[in-house]
Amino acid sequence: MSFQGRSHLFNDRNVDHYRRSLTDGVERVASRISRAERPFSGITPAALAPEISAIDLEQPLSDPAAALDELEDVYLRDAVYFHHPRYLAHLNCPVVIPALLGEAVLTAVNSSLDTWDQSAGGTLIERRLIDWTARRIGLGESADGVFTSGGSQSNFQALLLAREEAFAKAAAEAAYAGNPLSKHDFLPRLRILASEAGHFSVQKSAKMLGLGMDAVIPVETDQDRRMRPAALARELERCRTEDLAVMAVVATAGTTDFGSIDPLPRIADLCEWAGVWLHVDAAYGCGLLASPTRRHLLDGIERADSVTVDYHKSFFQPVSSSAVLVRDAAVLRHATYYADYLNPARMAEQRIPNQVDKSIQTTRRFDALKLWLTLRIMGADAIGELFDEVVDRAAQAYDLLSRDPRFEVVTKSQLSTVVFRYLPAPGPERELADDANLHAREALAASGDAVVAGTKVDGHHYLKFTLLNPETSLDDIAHVLDLLADHAGRFIAEKVTPEQRRKAG
Ligand SMILES: *Cc1c(COP(=O)(O)O)cnc(C)c1O
Repeated sequence: MSFQGRSHLFNDRNVDHYRRSLTDGVERVASRISRAERPFSGITPAALAPEISAIDLEQPLSDPAAALDELEDVYLRDAVYFHHPRYLAHLNCPVVIPALLGEAVLTAVNSSLDTWDQSAGGTLIERRLIDWTARRIGLGESADGVFTSGGSQSNFQALLLAREEAFAKAAAEAAYAGNPLSKHDFLPRLRILASEAGHFSVQKSAKMLGLGMDAVIPVETDQDRRMRPAALARELERCRTEDLAVMAVVATAGTTDFGSIDPLPRIADLCEWAGVWLHVDAAYGCGLLASPTRRHLLDGIERADSVTVDYHKSFFQPVSSSAVLVRDAAVLRHATYYADYLNPARMAEQRIPNQVDKSIQTTRRFDALKLWLTLRIMGADAIGELFDEVVDRAAQAYDLLSRDPRFEVVTKSQLSTVVFRYLPAPGPERELADDANLHAREALAASGDAVVAGTKVDGHHYLKFTLLNPETSLDDIAHVLDLLADHAGRFIAEKVTPEQRRKAG
């Protein structure tokens, strides 16, 4: 029994097993990918759940080939494939091969980046990439940061640091005035200002930080879904007169739905004037940091106190790969705790680089290796060019849609989303617009021919393309639009009776 278990341990005696097993797995994925004609099979949870429930986890198959056969049935056959040019839904990118190589290496060596004594070179590589990113942002010599599991965690950590800094400042002022401030009294007064088109992880972060979700005040946006500086100024002033403490302004560099970039320089001016922490959520827009032609769209980001970047969105990296960056390394101390067994303060005195001192995670993947190999093999320009291509494609898709009478398109994205809807003829058909768009998206997904996203604009159902695949051609997009128009048109034809149609004239 113990021999059977030991033969699976990854060690010097089992490297052949490792080679064979991984090669078989790679072969299965390669064959799946080369055969995938559609991004999705269209399977429903009701159809798939019984297959997975029926598997007896107490009865191992022992044989990797048998397990891979089974995996074909319960996962690979029906997975959603982001590499496919007609996957147009969410912020999932096709991934680059150097990063997959990195993933294979990091998971086998299994470094944990919490402490130097669990990672060694991994720690230094992560630090170089943090410095590289901070330099691209322009955060200055005192910048620092850490890799995280994703944009949500990066936003949370940034806001945690902002809250602690806001409290430290207020407590110091209160002490100076002779009336000490308790955190208990301070928390309910805290507010976060974020664009109404910002990401929901800001609200969730507020909740985890001991504030209500309603501590996030939505700031009005303009017709391009960019935060209005005048509205921000108004909210800052309102908070001041109501004795509320704004702990951070969150600007978004690439909103999830509209790809809109808030006017960073003007927001930075206002934050500077009000003495408020500026966090820039560039989870989506960070790809511009590598763009040879569009870096200027992020101008002003260098004035942020903290920045979120998601390499797993616009740097073509596999999940997870993200980071939070700060202008002043010292603020990361709010994430520090000295545990005797892990990172005693003595280690800090000896300048042993323990990344756990900067992170809210303890055991942590060496995700940085994927970006490292990407930069060492492809280089940043190649990544930026791939991102530029999808931004160009989105502009072409917008033009295509604005010439197409079947559809109505919302705003021209600065990045790579397109929000639009099928617009039926005025009259009884138009009244079915919401249902028709909802139906078209679901019917398309069920067919597996393409996957698109949906969102709401002014209370109405819209459709959304998020383009992150340079292999998606304008022909693919035109084809998907035809499919959507067919599904929506057929839905309406079934619902609207000839009688209604005659009446409407
Ligand atoms: C995706 C996204 C996030 C959340 O990032 P995850 O990596 O999914 O946790 C935050 N902000 C914006 C603007 C995003 O688009």
